[in-house]
Amino acid sequence: MRNYKIGVIKGDGIGPEIVDEAMKVLDAISAVEDINFEYSDFLLGGAAIDATGVPLPEETIQGVRRVDAVLFGAIGGPKWDSLERHLRPESGLLGLRKAMGTFANLRPAIVYDELVNASTLKPKVVSGVDIMVVRELTGGIYFGQPREQGKDKAFNTMVYSKTEVERIARVAFEIAMKRDKRVCSVDKANVLEVSQFWRDIVEEIHKDYPEIELSHMYVDNAAMQLIREPKQFDVILTGNIFGDILSDAASMLSGSIGLLPSASTGEGVGLFEPIHGSAPDIAGQGIANPIATIASVSMMLRYALGEESAANRIDSAIKKSLAEGYRTGDISAFDAKEVVSTTEMGSIIANYASK
Ligand code: NAD
Repeated sequence: MRNYKIGVIKGDGIGPEIVDEAMKVLDAISAVEDINFEYSDFLLGGAAIDATGVPLPEETIQGVRRVDAVLFGAIGGPKWDSLERHLRPESGLLGLRKAMGTFANLRPAIVYDELVNASTLKPKVVSGVDIMVVRELTGGIYFGQPREQGKDKAFNTMVYSKTEVERIARVAFEIAMKRDKRVCSVDKANVLEVSQFWRDIVEEIHKDYPEIELSHMYVDNAAMQLIREPKQFDVILTGNIFGDILSDAASMLSGSIGLLPSASTGEGVGLFEPIHGSAPDIAGQGIANPIATIASVSMMLRYALGEESAANRIDSAIKKSLAEGYRTGDISAFDAKEVVSTTEMGSIIANYASK
């Protein structure tokens, strides 16, 4: 039996509700896949502020270094909004990502056939979409020096080092090897030197992955192509600011925020979480959609633990539950046969996954 230590950060709002369902699914596949999951809980965000006075306790930073992967719900809420910026829940999450050294953000955009009508785009455009956006997370214009806001002018600097581009390119090529073996690197090389530099290094790293088909696209065209013909993409590799914008646009192809997972990975332990926030407006009502978090544990199994069969099992269980017409409230308008609660959806998926 394989044994994995999973750090669990439930967080605030709907966080505990959706993480409990993801753990239910992990436990359901444990016996059939011969895997044992050992959980350790850690505090972050509002829950940490209430218990310890700070959003990122030292115990959490140390604790996540001792596990194989971290499952995270969401943090934040109106209760903590009036605190100073560095004491707010969000700064705890940014600090945690930094402490974990995560430099790659993986954001899939999947359109489930059963929910093709949930998208704002036409079904024939989005049906079958399965994109992975690989975004560089710790470099580029968000972090470049010098930066300044003066009285008459302000500036930021877009910087990428060779090492930063090489390591994110490798992440994208490795992921593409597990998918359709196509990478589209997105930049603005017609205008920016830093983008031409990015492009040259991606070409270099590509030599180590001859099976992968590599293409390049300017970011303005990529934004247009995502809406025009999203099915043309398999893996999109891009920098921090372009990835920030494109991954949000791509995620909306699916039409519902409650469905999509994400991962932040790097040299150490990875963080796996839904793309949505803590949804304080529906917290405690048992109506949150747990699918994004359940899909996040599938990503954890595939990308952090190398448990492909277990990940496929969960992906199939999610698809089956949707195909059978089970819907939480947020997606109940789309071909629902039965509207179910958060815990019911978790149990249905866990049941399919264990078969
Ligand atoms: P949100 O994603 O929490 O909610 C946006 C809307 O989507 C809400 O109407 C909510 O009810 C709905 N929604 C979100 N997840 C859902 C789910 N699983 N099932 C059904 N409906 C769902 O974004 P927001 O309202 O802008 O932010 C709320 C709080 O979350 C804020 O404090 C914000 O700072 C925080 N936040 C945290 C993270 C994170 O922890 N990674 C990310 C974004 C926002």
